[in-house]
Amino acid sequence: MAFGVKDAAKALEAYARFLHVPSDTTIEFFPKSKNRVALFYLGGIEYQLCESTVPDGRFATWIDERGSEGLHHICYEVDDIDAALAHAEAQGATLRICQACQVVGSHPHPEGWVAFLDDEAGGIEIEFMQVYTEEQLKEYEDFKGI
Ligand SMILES: [Zn+2]
Repeated sequence: MAFGVKDAAKALEAYARFLHVPSDTTIEFFPKSKNRVALFYLGGIEYQLCESTVPDGRFATWIDERGSEGLHHICYEVDDIDAALAHAEAQGATLRICQACQVVGSHPHPEGWVAFLDDEAGGIEIEFMQVYTEEQLKEYEDFKGI
């Protein structure tokens, strides 16, 4: 689950104060998407507190538009992203461009293949991810020269 926040450190502080956030949680900077993200697990769910580091960034723009911080999107882990997208599209969904990569539909990110829908469920954006197998992760890292 990804939250759009104005200040990842401040948001993490609040989570850590009221909930059992692992004490070794750090905030990572992602240069490509220009986000600062605090990532931790609560109850087996991955939480991402996402802060744009530029005023026109994905999360800053979203906060400006809706007027407050909050739940930005839920990423659903799937076994087969092509099948998940085919199903969603058969149900009338349309795909959304990935702002960071400028790609529509399934494409590689560091952790796996991802795709975004233009459609929302309960006002929350939908993202799909097919996490790489060990072998696919190695291929991705070789390809990216990581
Ligand atoms: Zn992307």
